[in-house]
Amino acid sequence: MHDSIMFSRQQYGTAKDMNTTINTYELMKERYPDLQAEGIVRDRADAAYEILSDCTLCPHQCHVDRTAGETGFCRTGNELIISSYSPHFGEEPPLVGRRGSGTIFFTNCNLGCIFCQNYEISQCGRGFQVRTEDLAEIMLRLQERGCHNINLVSPTHQVPGILKAVDIAAGRGLTIPIV
Ligand code: SF4
Repeated sequence: MHDSIMFSRQQYGTAKDMNTTINTYELMKERYPDLQAEGIVRDRADAAYEILSDCTLCPHQCHVDRTAGETGFCRTGNELIISSYSPHFGEEPPLVGRRGSGTIFFTNCNLGCIFCQNYEISQCGRGFQVRTEDLAEIMLRLQERGCHNINLVSPTHQVPGILKAVDIAAGRGLTIPIV
């Protein structure tokens, strides 16, 4: 997701060199609402779901069929599983601001770091299943509560469902940054 919403240093330098009036808001605003309107987020979600049947979503390259219930290193099947969501005030100050970072903790992980501070979630599977519509609703609720961003914790192995949820949420007015 980051490649679609970030403005690279190189692009920014080129834009500055154009010696034109740069509207900083335009440079920094999120791209995913536009991509959603163009159907591109939906297409990327569909493409990501295709990968699940022979999973190579991350460098583990497990080649398991997650749509048939098989699991690889991340111990995650076809379903979205989260542990919690809330405004979070323990992140870096630029993310937290005054009203918190809208954090969503995803269950399981494709890493397995022995020093993980969230090991009950990342390695012991603590969490509950949600539908993509539920995840979209959670994102919108966090925005309504004033959170400055949607903060996805350990999302890589659940990217297909997240993209689908972003597609739904953006269609209903989600606009805050996704980090
Ligand atoms: S996302 Fe999970 S199943 Fe897929 S390659 Fe990575 S660790 Fe393996």
